[in-house]
Amino acid sequence: MRSTIVVGAGIWGSSLALRLAETGWRVTLIEQYAPGHVRQASGGETRLLRCSHGADDWYARLAWQARDGWRRLGERVGEDLFLETGILWFAGTDHAWETASAQVLKNLDIPFELLEPSDAGRFFPDFRPDGLAFVLREPHAGVLRARRATQVTARLAQDAGVTLIRAEAIPHPEGGVVADGELLRADRVVWACGAWLPGMFDLPVTVTRQDTLHFDVPRAWASAPAFCEYGSSVYGHGDLDGMGLKATSDVEGDPYDPRTGSRQVLPGSESASRDYLARRFPSLAAAPVLFSQVCQYGVTPDAEWIIAEVRDGEWVIGGDSGHGFKHGPALAAYLADVLDGSVEPEPRFGLGERHPARGLRTSGLSGLAGSG
Ligand SMILES: Cc1cc2nc3c(=O)[nH]c(=O)nc-3n(C[C@H](O)[C@H](O)[C@H](O)COP(=O)(O)OP(=O)(O)OC[C@H]3O[C@@H](n4cnc5c(N)ncnc54)[C@H](O)[C@@H]3O)c2cc1C
Repeated sequence: MRSTIVVGAGIWGSSLALRLAETGWRVTLIEQYAPGHVRQASGGETRLLRCSHGADDWYARLAWQARDGWRRLGERVGEDLFLETGILWFAGTDHAWETASAQVLKNLDIPFELLEPSDAGRFFPDFRPDGLAFVLREPHAGVLRARRATQVTARLAQDAGVTLIRAEAIPHPEGGVVADGELLRADRVVWACGAWLPGMFDLPVTVTRQDTLHFDVPRAWASAPAFCEYGSSVYGHGDLDGMGLKATSDVEGDPYDPRTGSRQVLPGSESASRDYLARRFPSLAAAPVLFSQVCQYGVTPDAEWIIAEVRDGEWVIGGDSGHGFKHGPALAAYLADVLDGSVEPEPRFGLGERHPARGLRTSGLSGLAGSG
């Protein structure tokens, strides 16, 4: 039986462990805390599932496949891990990103519609369309209960035979993994360590601090869809599960250390969200903050992920650049094919030269060339 050690039980490591165990691999999953812990990127309460990725069709297709994966996973455990709320993209006057996204969705037969800005008002209790050229709606996009989905995925992996070890793993200089002072070896080792990866390997990844805010809003906002304004770098969703309405800036924050960084949101993050609410959903401008969380992105120069063999039989998967949760189940299937050698990873995921670009993220405000 082929064997794999996966280090990191975020959604990437847990989904991969589950997939490998269900396709005949013996799998050991090593996690320093617990699946779904609050420091990991996958431990956020919610993550959006959208197919729009500007002009790129690889991630759009994978997101669409992943949506099926999430639905199947939810059916298996009898829980709605994915909520099909739809997403509305508020396209400003420089709408190149949304126009390109719509073209890709059309090419891939992924349902969408284009709305007049004023027409988007029917989806929200209160909405101001100022400065918008149109609204792109993906009716089958939505919101993932991320933390819960990560815990469920890791539990299913254990049910499928994966051994979960709680330890901090260290790469051994001659290959393999040191955990709790013991050297472990396997046919494949996969380091799925999120924002901790740059401290372990030499990778083109910058870790940034990201504050998220949820606001206490009237009950009518419970059924509001997800929304995103690429040009303003703000995204959010309705008041799901009584967690409040999420409205958060997607601009990359300051460099951050996931081990030691403060988990208290900054006052400037609250005012940025509030300014946006005042502009787009004015009745919420003074809504109290109900819940907040500090998390981190591991950002590559071009926002493309890293899937690279760094030593013989040892792979690094990371550099998710703040847009990798939704793809979990479909990415795991792709990675399993890469690990068994039946698929060559796309060159875009390698460690070669990368040119600054941000079009894969939901943030058109990064100021880097290629945005939009
Ligand atoms: C604020 C925010 C909003 C986001 N919004 C979205 C969104 O709307 N849609 C979307 O698709 N994506 C979104 N993302 C991105 C998404 O959350 C990440 O792409 C995804 O969670 C990455 O998962 P991961 O498993 O690679 O990393 P993580 O979830 O960080 O997991 C890595 C794990 O590795 C463990 N680990 C590290 N080093 C070691 C070690 N030496 N030994 C043992 N264990 C170790 C860590 O403890 C951690 O549990 C967002 C991210 C953030 C921060």
